[in-house]
Amino acid sequence: MGQEFSQLDTPIQFLKGVGPRRAQAFGSMGILTARDLLYHVPRRYDDASEIHPVAAAEVGMDVTVVGRVRSKGTVPTRSGLRIFQVVLQDDSGMITCAWPGQPWLDRRIRKGDLLLMTGPVKFYHGRQIHPREFILLGREGEEDGGRHGTIFVSYPASEEVPQWILRRVFARNLDWLLSQARGEEYLPEEERKVLGVSSLDRALASLHRPASLEEVEEGRRRLAFDELFFLQLVQAQVRYLQTEAQPGIPFLRTNRLIRPLYQSLPFQLTEAQARVLQEIYADMASPRRMNRLLQGDVGSGKTVVALFAMLLALEGGYQAALMAPTELLAEQHVRRIGEMLDPLGVQVLLLTGSLGASDRRRTLATLAEGEACPVVGTHALIQDSVDFQRLGLVVVDEQHRFGVRQRMALGEKESRPDVLVMSATPIPRSLAMALYGDLDLSILDQMPPGRKPVETLVKYPRNRKEIYRFLDREMENGRQAYVVYPLVEDSEKVDLRSASEEHRRLSEEVFPHRRVGLLHGQLRAEEKDSVMRAFLARELDLLVATTVIEVGIDVSNATVMVIEHAERFGLSQLHQLRGRVGRGGAKSTCILVSEPGELARERLAVLKRTSDGFEIAQADLEIRGQGDFFGPQQHGRDPILRFADLSRDEDLLRQAQTRARDRVARDPALESPENHKVRHLLEARHGEKMRLFGVG
Ligand code: ADP
Ligand code: MG
Repeated sequence: MGQEFSQLDTPIQFLKGVGPRRAQAFGSMGILTARDLLYHVPRRYDDASEIHPVAAAEVGMDVTVVGRVRSKGTVPTRSGLRIFQVVLQDDSGMITCAWPGQPWLDRRIRKGDLLLMTGPVKFYHGRQIHPREFILLGREGEEDGGRHGTIFVSYPASEEVPQWILRRVFARNLDWLLSQARGEEYLPEEERKVLGVSSLDRALASLHRPASLEEVEEGRRRLAFDELFFLQLVQAQVRYLQTEAQPGIPFLRTNRLIRPLYQSLPFQLTEAQARVLQEIYADMASPRRMNRLLQGDVGSGKTVVALFAMLLALEGGYQAALMAPTELLAEQHVRRIGEMLDPLGVQVLLLTGSLGASDRRRTLATLAEGEACPVVGTHALIQDSVDFQRLGLVVVDEQHRFGVRQRMALGEKESRPDVLVMSATPIPRSLAMALYGDLDLSILDQMPPGRKPVETLVKYPRNRKEIYRFLDREMENGRQAYVVYPLVEDSEKVDLRSASEEHRRLSEEVFPHRRVGLLHGQLRAEEKDSVMRAFLARELDLLVATTVIEVGIDVSNATVMVIEHAERFGLSQLHQLRGRVGRGGAKSTCILVSEPGELARERLAVLKRTSDGFEIAQADLEIRGQGDFFGPQQHGRDPILRFADLSRDEDLLRQAQTRARDRVARDPALESPENHKVRHLLEARHGEKMRLFGVG
């Protein structure tokens, strides 16, 4: 950051009252510069803005009073605790204030002092205030200067940097810090008005020394906007680079394949499918490259949508590739797509790691010749040896299973193919916008007609016998079942132990007459595939699994899922797991086993109530907060969003996204003088990330 805007890069040690030794302690809290300090905002606010007359203080209330110290003293208790007490008087009367265990206050507080204090009123030989906080407003004889209330702030502190140090350092430096913040303002006043946010220095002042709690919220809102805006700015640059920096392919629609598919499908597209397909076709028809995320619950019909998109590419004389995270999923796609394309006389190619040498050679040759054909595969598709001659469209299924790099790899082909990524993990729109601001968003929010919801029950562990009887009955009738265990701790080893121990117990003691398989995270990909294959082929009746069960695998004969320790899962995850059953015509059941506990049960009740993945994800967001969605590594000191709260800042997020995209559209590299400051601020916040995405 240049000196030109502010001196907030000044090392913390040079601030008043810090010095080299204390600077180290600040450093261990992640506060290295003046800016770090300025953004180290309080975590708690104690509202002492409304002053009560002492006569009105009643036991059980939380009050703020202002008065003169009439007398003081320290009283011992039988347990040896010493209590400092004062009698405080205002116009309405007198009250005792007591600080158990703080006899040293006797040296700070004098008779005649004017004090403001806030805390609960207790009963101990009469009414007593036990102050949480107090401030000295003036000594004996000094004017009482207005007696207005205040808000006490508490900072995130540590043993080395205690609360009182933080307060003192802020008291001595805040004015200077705020004056520097003025230099970093990048939003002109008119724009702030439209957005309904305050200026940067005012926002920071509101957070550090608010006059009211409303002011705190105003301050938070401004910093939330900044956070969202700069994040969107990086994404807008990535988006620009991906979609607009160079033209893509404008696909020409002939209906040569699309119409016959419409005619041969045994069903009509849902309204949601038709709408989403229009969004995709509009992108594909335009010379602008498509970079779109299609979100839809398991079973909402994404594959069919992807297929129609692939046909448009084929009609235009291009190849279309669909990439799945596992071989099994790739094979399932080939089978399904093959069936649907059969009436059209179109062949689907398969490319996976385990393909035989001659099949592989044939597929590679076809792709290299540039024949317009669909191909389905795994990571094998992005290997260097695969030479697409005319790749026009890339579809990535279950995109969250791929890294960002893998997701982008296929799109980096010379032909600049359009990219459609699909996800069966519904997340609230606000989250999708925050996480995937570089992508355009299509949402399949409607299920094909006729799907029976999975009956969902919440049971206690003591109901286990009954649960096993039910499982056994289903298996007796030729059905298959899952029993799922969570990651008990964040350790793969423990995870493995609990699932394998249960596998032993279930296969030897409970269901010795059934075929019981085990699937867990420590198996290699081929081993996982082979267990899933056995289950699919009905060579197993029961599958004991951790959460690694494939998303999207159809075992239509599986009708029961038991999820142990259900309270440890997020609702969205439970919903995902539940989606493994109910994929055939038969009635299916999901049994959530959970210890008694009201909160957990209340949460689980959401799953009984609805099978709408988006609604469930929204509930998850509200109950568990956004941290979970950003992944565990994002927690702690540097969460992606410290100020923005996606469950209530969706309006800000929209504004941030529009503004970021506009700015990048006008000035892609943000190099015009008008973007000078923004560019610097962006670099300071997200420099590393920008280089990772190639926009730095
Ligand atoms: P997803 O990939 O989103 O999990 P699929 O595309 O696999 O969902 O579709 C799930 C099932 O629903 C498939 O058997 C598919 O043939 C069927 N299906 C898809 N769209 C419709 C529709 N509009 N009407 C009836 N069935 C549909
Ligand atoms: Mg699918």
